[in-house]
Amino acid sequence: MKTAVFSSREYDRHFLRGANEAAGAGHDLTFFEIRLDSDTAQLAKGQEAVCAFVNDQLDRTVLEKLAADGIKLVALRSAGFNHVDLEAACRLGITIARVPAYSPASVAEHTVALTLSLNRKIHKAYSRVRDGNFALDGLLGFDLEGKTVGIVGTGTIGLVVARILRGFGCRVEAFDPRPSPELEQIGGVMVDLPDLLAGADILTLHCPLTPKTFHLIDSAAIKQMKPGVMLINTSRGAVVDARALISGLKSGKIGSVGLDVYEEEGDLFFENLSDKMIQDDVFARLLTFPNVLITGHQAFFTREAMTAIAQTTIGNITSFEMTGRADHEVSVEKLA
Ligand code: NAD
Repeated sequence: MKTAVFSSREYDRHFLRGANEAAGAGHDLTFFEIRLDSDTAQLAKGQEAVCAFVNDQLDRTVLEKLAADGIKLVALRSAGFNHVDLEAACRLGITIARVPAYSPASVAEHTVALTLSLNRKIHKAYSRVRDGNFALDGLLGFDLEGKTVGIVGTGTIGLVVARILRGFGCRVEAFDPRPSPELEQIGGVMVDLPDLLAGADILTLHCPLTPKTFHLIDSAAIKQMKPGVMLINTSRGAVVDARALISGLKSGKIGSVGLDVYEEEGDLFFENLSDKMIQDDVFARLLTFPNVLITGHQAFFTREAMTAIAQTTIGNITSFEMTGRADHEVSVEKLA
């Protein structure tokens, strides 16, 4: 199929071309580095499908433009689909496909990397030692063993995080509206959200962004947490109210924060802005805290995950071309 691939970097091209060739799929991929939005949607003219990533815009306006240009399929290179207006896609007859699971270990391991780095101040120690400063002041951490980790969302990724942290000797508690026998099998305990917030030394978020989880972590939720709590978010930025986070950090209620995602990351992440001014004052304020560690949406970025994402994406395009149905379609009901 003729497919316009948006937000594509050299690494995306490498893995997608590889998967296209390996499967003998023969899709005609046209790569654009630029993000998909209402101005760039016209680049998809003459194509049959669009391949998009997490910060591409797939709201009603963009989908209407794509539909008018004959696009029948949007193949997301992500698990999350919170950036897609599913109702508009359905009405316009555009199929949305995604990559439901790809190496959950990639995101889970990055979650643990953030937790360990933040706790043991590896990011600070790295530059200190290179400066010839071997003093330990300010580098004091705590043992993970025996601490309570609260997991929000015991889906594919949350469960892997639970398994790893059980290995560290943590008590694992979790909240998910769906029961999780798998969590209990590995020695975790399902609790209500208020109990989770009140009991966690480390709180880590692994739920999707939906209308119900938007700003799930706001000032009211922060108020219920243990003083000095560590908060890790590798799910979606808008699950956390960044302004409330800043207040929690300023008051000392929140002990440390590790973020791989940020509510307004679309204007920042995946770009090299080192010569530009950051215009987002909330993000800039977050960067000033010594106890905040931010990575730019890289949790998924392992060789294994990129290979799996490319294979599933090419598979979605091929199945749609062959049968009119993609292997992993997102349906409107999943909005709820
Ligand atoms: P999943 O669908 O397997 O699991 C999500 C879980 O969250 C489900 O068990 C669901 O029942 C639960 N959930 C739904 N609403 C909830 C709520 N209100 N409170 C608590 N739990 C709730 O998804 P996954 O593959 O484990 O991914 C989790 C999230 O991680 C994705 O939605 C995506 O946003 C994010 N993600 C981030 C990266 C990254 O690079 N940072 C990569 C992949 C996925």
